[in-house]
Amino acid sequence: MSSRTEPSFRESVDLMFNRAVSLMDLPPGLEEKIRVCNATYTVRFGVRLRGAMHTFTGYRSVHSEHMEPVKGGIRYATGVNQDEVEALAALMTYKCALVEAPFGGSKGGLCIDPREYDEHELELITRRFAYELAKRDLINPSQNVPAPDMGTGEREMAWIADQYARMNTTDINAKACVTGKPLNAGGISGRVEATGRGVQYALREFFRYEEDKAAAGLSGKLEGKRIIVQGLGNVGYHAAKFLSEEDGALITGIIERDGGLYSADGLDVEAVRNWIVKHDGVAGYPDAQFVEDGALLLEEECDVLIPAALEAVINLSNAERVKAPLIIEAANGPVTAGADEILRKKGTVIIPDMYANAGGVTVSYFEWVKNLSHIRFGRMQRRQEEARHQLVIDELQRLDDVMGDTWSMSPHFKEKYLRGADELELVRSGLDDTMRVAYQSMREVWHSRDDVTDLRTAAYLVSIDKVAKSYHAKGL
Ligand code: NAD
Repeated sequence: MSSRTEPSFRESVDLMFNRAVSLMDLPPGLEEKIRVCNATYTVRFGVRLRGAMHTFTGYRSVHSEHMEPVKGGIRYATGVNQDEVEALAALMTYKCALVEAPFGGSKGGLCIDPREYDEHELELITRRFAYELAKRDLINPSQNVPAPDMGTGEREMAWIADQYARMNTTDINAKACVTGKPLNAGGISGRVEATGRGVQYALREFFRYEEDKAAAGLSGKLEGKRIIVQGLGNVGYHAAKFLSEEDGALITGIIERDGGLYSADGLDVEAVRNWIVKHDGVAGYPDAQFVEDGALLLEEECDVLIPAALEAVINLSNAERVKAPLIIEAANGPVTAGADEILRKKGTVIIPDMYANAGGVTVSYFEWVKNLSHIRFGRMQRRQEEARHQLVIDELQRLDDVMGDTWSMSPHFKEKYLRGADELELVRSGLDDTMRVAYQSMREVWHSRDDVTDLRTAAYLVSIDKVAKSYHAKGL
């Protein structure tokens, strides 16, 4: 155990920010303007439940309004506090800038363990929280647009959207007040899995570059790589599922609240998820070794470690023993500033949170645009695209007929080529493009500057530069 003390989450984010700005040439004063959190609203409200009044504490923090609306999830967890919400809001600013989603950064949280309440109680609590935020324009399609985070999902977003709509009956854009909604309540295809999908696209992009793999001492493809995931919730489950089912990676470890599972041959992600849903934890799962102190699996041999649960899980007390050569931060802030320093010295490559989990906000951006345009993506052009493709197919068919045995169309080519893209395909394409372009912008800085030796600093440099340019454009 190190004798050094660990900075708080917000201090960690500030330390990483400071390391990056020390390499930049920003106009005097701008550095502080970008770093500080503009405002944090604390609300305490009562809800009558089970015959008594219960008081809840919630936050909504706005880090930067260089672009509006500001954007960021709402978290339900007992550990929520001002420091955490402000750190997460700051990360949102940098994340949106990095992936070019035109938003400022915000984040919200409610100190509550959602598992202690039934659905009806959660609805009452969520609606009341939403009411408190909406009446202060901290939920508003043009000013502040929340999304799901830890402990919240589609259901809560639908309640929030409905609450806002009830309070703003003439707002034609009311649906755009929150993202991550179910499809039948103004959501978009592919949002639920977007953050996990983004983690998959990020890893795929990383594995396209020999130089980057070499920096982590890795080679070859994603196929067969051993991956340990912490947290089989929304983000971790989808990332693990896609990486194992579509890329052939082996999920050798899964860490949950009550312990961890290990199997050198790879775990069946779907089966583990079903087990968790049924038994409220991983203990007792039959086809793997159970490790009671699940956090020990963070230190197990693997090729890629995906912390996808909560912050500060890799810290001064265990960083030295973490063996993974590549860590992709699916969660926000899983590596503390102190651990980051230790890992960098060891040569561990870290794909930073502000990039790695940006898939969620990217697809949220698409959802917000869809809500404002009041039309599903692809609706106007899909059949027209198919008609044009039919012309090509007809010509090829003519050729096919003339050529006899010497040439013919490949099997299934017709069906694949004919089909115009639906909303889900367009969302995936937009997400893939976003993740690839953002990765390229980071690696370009990583490899072109001698004073930048890690992807996190590169990510901060790219995003701070973009935020600074926005301020400059505003004449500040
Ligand atoms: P979630 O609530 O769906 O899942 C979290 C999972 O972690 C749960 O399965 C929970 O049981 C597990 N967990 C909790 N404490 C744990 C512990 N001590 N050890 C191991 N596992 C533990 O949350 P989520 O939406 O998947 O979010 C996870 C992380 O990803 C958070 O840091 C969040 O900020 C970040 N994130 C989420 C989104 C999103 O779209 N949901 C987007 C960007 C970032």
